[in-house]
Amino acid sequence: MALVSMKEMLQEAKQEGYAVGQFNMNGLEFAQAFLLAAEEEQAPIILASSDRLVDYLGGFKTVAVMVNALMEELNITVPVALHLDHGMSVDRCKQAIDAGYTSVMIDGSHSPIDENIAMTREVVTYAKEKGVSVEAEVGTVGGQEDGMVGGIQYADIDECVRIVGETGIDALAAALGSVHGPYQGEPKLGFDEMKEISEKTAAPLVLHGGSGIPLHQLHRAIELGHAKVNVNTENIQAWTASVRKTLADNPDVYEPRLILLPAIEAVKEAAKTKMKEFKTSGRA
Ligand SMILES: [Zn+2]
Repeated sequence: MALVSMKEMLQEAKQEGYAVGQFNMNGLEFAQAFLLAAEEEQAPIILASSDRLVDYLGGFKTVAVMVNALMEELNITVPVALHLDHGMSVDRCKQAIDAGYTSVMIDGSHSPIDENIAMTREVVTYAKEKGVSVEAEVGTVGGQEDGMVGGIQYADIDECVRIVGETGIDALAAALGSVHGPYQGEPKLGFDEMKEISEKTAAPLVLHGGSGIPLHQLHRAIELGHAKVNVNTENIQAWTASVRKTLADNPDVYEPRLILLPAIEAVKEAAKTKMKEFKTSGRA
């Protein structure tokens, strides 16, 4: 099956009350693990590369070719979107689209709202022609964002209404207390604001920092309009724990394949758990 945009995926998810997971790739093994997890769970999936990791991954074209080839070799039949996470500029988003990404996020959240809207509109114009979906962000997700550590800044409701109405984006990341990376204590998500933003914009919402959110809060966020949940930290923690254990248990091992095969399995299991939690399993 060819890559698809996330537009229909997210509209259906919002309507049916579940969320599609965005899983960030940190290399070939992660792409394999996530695709196999999605196929086994019969779950639609959004495979993403964070813009700051694109060069490390070999560039936009390498990522697009890798994902397309894996889908064919692994006989993947579930819907898959290839998404640029936290696109740093209009130009970076265009490069991703030209390379074959079917979805992009333009992160103008660090700019004043008028600039954010202008950037987003430019990306939407370019993307729509090619059937590519666009996500934008308002407010600031806490923790590590684009390599910068920052405090949480709640999204302004009027700014959310403006950016959706004035740009025609397919999904809105409205920062409402979530954090990239591990949480210190229980997350404090703004559920009242969430409800209002979802009702006033009607756009599928995106929850960044989906790792480590207690299940009851996660399900409440999905009920209140989140159709996409981004998860990265828990997957890379599963990978690292597996590599550490393999190395500790087998001091003589030196072959990468023997070190990484159990890690692929660990990431696949972590992803399958998330798909069940997001209620995406069986929705393909
Ligand atoms: Zn994010």
